[in-house]
Amino acid sequence: MTDNNFSHDRRRLLRGALLGIAAAPLAYVSLRGSNAMAEDMPILEEDDPQAIALNYVHDATDKDDMRSEGAICGNCRLWLADDETEWGGCTAFPGKLVNIDGWCSAWVATS
Ligand code: SF4
Repeated sequence: MTDNNFSHDRRRLLRGALLGIAAAPLAYVSLRGSNAMAEDMPILEEDDPQAIALNYVHDATDKDDMRSEGAICGNCRLWLADDETEWGGCTAFPGKLVNIDGWCSAWVATS
């Protein structure tokens, strides 16, 4: 490979990487509400160490002593599905599904 080809390949690689970075926010926006990847993800188990660390439960009423009144995954800013999907993604637990009626201590009110 000549230096010229190497530079050309490097420029193409860099351009691809920059386009990927630029497209990430658009991908996030398009996934929110569509739950497009949800069918491929496992449910977050309540005994998962990450779930335990954030007090996650499938039924928010199990944590009435800890949560704000009415706070559930379905009205959390980190919820990545629409309001009719029972199991959806959550940015606090990448690659796992949480229940729309669940809750964890990372809950953030939607503005
Ligand atoms: S961050 Fe929000 S959506 Fe995710 S598990 Fe906690 S309460 Fe549910």
